[in-house]
Formats: sequence, C-alpha cells, structure tokens
Amino acid sequence: MERHECLHRRTNLPAATEALGAEIGARIDRGLCMLLSGDLGAGKTVFVRGLCRGLGVAEHVLSPTFTLYEAYRGRRRVVHVDLYRVEHESEVEALGVFDLLGDPDVVLLVEWGERSQTLRGRADVVVTITYAGDDERDLRVEATPDCAAIFTLEAAS
Ligand code: ADP
Ligand code: MG
Repeated sequence: MERHECLHRRTNLPAATEALGAEIGARIDRGLCMLLSGDLGAGKTVFVRGLCRGLGVAEHVLSPTFTLYEAYRGRRRVVHVDLYRVEHESEVEALGVFDLLGDPDVVLLVEWGERSQTLRGRADVVVTITYAGDDERDLRVEATPDCAAIFTLEAAS
C-alpha cells in the first residue's frame, strides 16, 4: 500500500511519547494495521501504551516480547504483537495475525512489524521511532491516504 509521511514529532520524555500515542489513539476511528519500527528501547511499547489508553483500553499494557501476542478490548479490539523473537513468516501466520488484516473492529499494533513481508505490504501505518538523545526520540508516521487524517494533529502539545 502507498504510504506518505504525515507526522513528524520529537519527544523529550517517555511520558511525552505516551501522551502522543494517547492523542493518536483517541483519534483512531477505524480498524487498521500499524507497524512500529525502531531499535530495542526506542519507545515502541511506550507509544503503544499511549495508543491503547487513547483507544479506551483500561488494562495495563505489558510488552508482548515473550508472549508475542496480547489482545485488549477498548473502543475496538486492540491486538498488540511483537515480532522481535519471530524469525519466519510462517510464525507470524501461526499467530493468526494475517486473519485480522482488514477487520474493521481490529486495531493491530505490531512491534518489529517490518520483519514480516506480508505486513509490510498490507500495513496502513508505519511508525518509525529513532533515538535522538538520552530521553529524546524522533517519531515519524507514514500512512495511507485513508488513514492520514488520524495523524493530522494540532501543533505540538
Ligand atoms: P521498545 O518497545 O521500542 O523496545 P520500550 O518502549 O520498551 O522500547 O522502552 C523505551 C525506553 O526508553 C523506556 O525505558 C523509556 O523510559 C525510555 N525513554 C527515554 N526517553 C523516551 C522517550 N522520549 N520516549 C519513549 N521512551 C523513552
Ligand atoms: Mg517493545
């Protein structure tokens, strides 16, 4: 799918990354597949925690690094996956992730999602987080035209 950059923000605290996630999560009004790309410790899980809060998930969101897959109920079904420990496309398929693509009730959030060729091809959104100093992180969002409005936020909050 064709994606274009629609948001670029720098945060200077974990809480700021989480707040940005919550602001975006509150604006998600459709099912979608979002890939989260960035090194270990970049802040993917922190950002997802915010997204989940904005999506109305009440539970505490833990990293699925070991469980690989967690599901929550918010305004939509939220599925949080981490492919860090996954090496083959068949393992992604076995998690049942591909079956969720295109489901209007599912917000699929995949850390290290770029590792899956299928997900790279089908994702509506790719968020890339890069280290920019001790507590500073650069977040870039690329989205399909259908999803771009979700990321059109007011000036830095
Ligand atoms: P990932 O899921 O990308 O491996 P985590 O979200 O689990 O990373 O961890 C990010 C780490 O970086 C946390 O320890 C967090 O406190 C720290 N951190 C420091 N500054 C930031 C920031 N601006 N945004 C997000 N996390 C930050
Ligand atoms: Mg993580």
